[in-house]
Amino acid sequence: MHPPKVRILGDLKAGTTERHLIKLPGAALANDEPRPVISVAGAKPGPVLFVNAGVHGSEYPAVEAVIRLGKTLDPKKISGTVILMPVLNLPAFRTRTPFVCPIDNVNPNRVFPGDPRGSYSEQMTHACINEFVVHADAYVDLHGGDIPEALVPFVICRSEAGLADSKARGVAARSKQIAMAFGLPYVLTVSKPSKGHRAGAGGLSSYAAAADKGTPAILAEAGGAGQMQEEAVSLLVKGVVNVMRHLRIIEDAKFESHIANSETNSKEKLKKTARSTVATTVLTKFHWLYTKSTGVWYPKVAQGDAVREGEEIGTIGDLFGDTLEEIASPVNGVVLFLTISPSVLENGLLMGIGVE
Ligand SMILES: [Zn+2]
Repeated sequence: MHPPKVRILGDLKAGTTERHLIKLPGAALANDEPRPVISVAGAKPGPVLFVNAGVHGSEYPAVEAVIRLGKTLDPKKISGTVILMPVLNLPAFRTRTPFVCPIDNVNPNRVFPGDPRGSYSEQMTHACINEFVVHADAYVDLHGGDIPEALVPFVICRSEAGLADSKARGVAARSKQIAMAFGLPYVLTVSKPSKGHRAGAGGLSSYAAAADKGTPAILAEAGGAGQMQEEAVSLLVKGVVNVMRHLRIIEDAKFESHIANSETNSKEKLKKTARSTVATTVLTKFHWLYTKSTGVWYPKVAQGDAVREGEEIGTIGDLFGDTLEEIASPVNGVVLFLTISPSVLENGLLMGIGVE
């Protein structure tokens, strides 16, 4: 059936881009402002790709990448359907809130696949999975560093390692192919959490919950620090187009030809990034470092830096200028994300180090 039936979007017409204002189901979401969603139903049949940003509402290059795709993808030149949601966690976007949804103070990317009777964030992630992700052949969740964070662009997906079920292994393998196709410098494959991980309503990230539902999925990160870096926007736009090519939603190698002519400015911006290609390093472990002390954070490394086990990578001071803590790297790896805000609380997150 083409275009596919995605109930919440109603009937889509082949060869057209449509703008929707969607009320997500869930009693906790009843008074929400409607969320913008754009459907790009190709002239020819093909796979369904769902792309969202704004699970964390203050990761702005990701949001802009989805907006730009909605303005520039030409439905006449694609086979299949691309569904775009610029911001899932709209309350966080409106209030410039990092990490969580301000309504329930929950990090939505820790409560996928959600719960229709749970808190606001649990109902929101449940709606995202059940109204969109399960209807898609692939899912791309766009992120970046949040307001106090910087990062090097990377993609995360489910690892095949340790999966007993052949169907689950197949979904993980397809997720990794999509992650590699996206074209960022690092791909991090993450094992399925073992038993004992918080069960029930959620406890998973978007891509992991999607994989559990049988939809190959990735989470891609670029940009951060509460800013709209054009380079990061372009990397994410280009990455989604690379995924579209991998899925054969677009066929030929020059993706500029698939961008409608109406947005000259955006088209030029897209062209600029179309030329570069990167070698991707695959990482298989993610170490997150925390401070013991409340204080002032002085990192000695930047995002993208290689670090050695035992190397001092920063210190925590107090407000008299005395050192409270020296932070050493527990592993050999690369700094994928870094807290750049100097103010840190006890048990506060400092950085994430990816390991080969
Ligand atoms: Zn995020």
